[in-house]
Amino acid sequence: MTTQSLAEKVKAFDPRAVARAISLIESRSSDGQILISQLFSFGGHATVVGITGAPGVGKSTLVDCLTIELRRRDAKVGILAIDPTSPFSGGAILGDRIRMQSHTGDAGVFVRSMASRGHLGGLSQATNDATVILDAAGLDVVLIETVGVGQGEVDIIRTADISIVVMAPGSGDDVQALKAGIMEIADVFVVNKSDRDGVDRTVTDIEAALMLKDHSAEGRRVPVLKTEATSNIGIADVIDAVEQFQESSTQKNRRLQHRAGVRLRETLSREFMQRLEGRDDIKQALDKAVDRISKREVDPYTAAVEIMERAQ
Ligand code: GDP
Repeated sequence: MTTQSLAEKVKAFDPRAVARAISLIESRSSDGQILISQLFSFGGHATVVGITGAPGVGKSTLVDCLTIELRRRDAKVGILAIDPTSPFSGGAILGDRIRMQSHTGDAGVFVRSMASRGHLGGLSQATNDATVILDAAGLDVVLIETVGVGQGEVDIIRTADISIVVMAPGSGDDVQALKAGIMEIADVFVVNKSDRDGVDRTVTDIEAALMLKDHSAEGRRVPVLKTEATSNIGIADVIDAVEQFQESSTQKNRRLQHRAGVRLRETLSREFMQRLEGRDDIKQALDKAVDRISKREVDPYTAAVEIMERAQ
């Protein structure tokens, strides 16, 4: 199938074509790039929601409930579940498979797991490209679920239109740990498992941590919402918060600009490296420099400057 006919099928939201398109961009084939260029201008409608939090806080359950609520509101939903790279839980992939089955038969939901492994730091690129595809396919909301708060996850969530951080009661220590990276990127906090003891304490902890944050850039209060995903409690409030956030055009524009900037810079640096490595003389110089750096004959900065000069 040509990329053009694949693109047409993606636009018609043919699920098999969408799955195939995502596989193409995951494998980083040149067809994947062509496909993105054919689809890019057909997107821009979907709201991209990043959802992150430690394993076990109830993200998957929550994403399920959010999907059901969104469907109730007539939105078509794409779910990108990012599998953890490392040690957290081997069960995640299985969990995602099970979850996919729970929406089988609903033509308005598309679920895809994306493995962190094998992307070599390019996972945020692959996720972004997958989002472009789902957007062009006409999905209204794309939920990107990631585990944990590593740099990779932060990179992904940072480029979402809105970022939700999920916590559970009794994770006061986590609040401390999260402060650095996550406080900066959370647009909405959800304290799930609100049926458990200590829920108000966790809410207070988060609110206290948020007070320390500099709000001047945003001028907006970050809501801290309570949910009980297993009983479908508080879910509508989360969707309401997402909708309210999206209605603020300043927020939206800021995110769009940011996402465009991140994508362009990432793409440029990747293309630049690929071109460098594609030239035989530079490739040799690179190998030689690696050797010299490992023997401490030259430092990486000097070596990089030498290679850039040669590349001109
Ligand atoms: P994830 O690892 O963050 O995706 O968490 P899961 O969605 O897999 O949930 C982990 C466990 O917590 C499961 O056994 C869920 O049934 C349970 N769970 C999820 N939400 C709630 C909740 O609101 N209350 C309680 N008590 N348990 C929940």
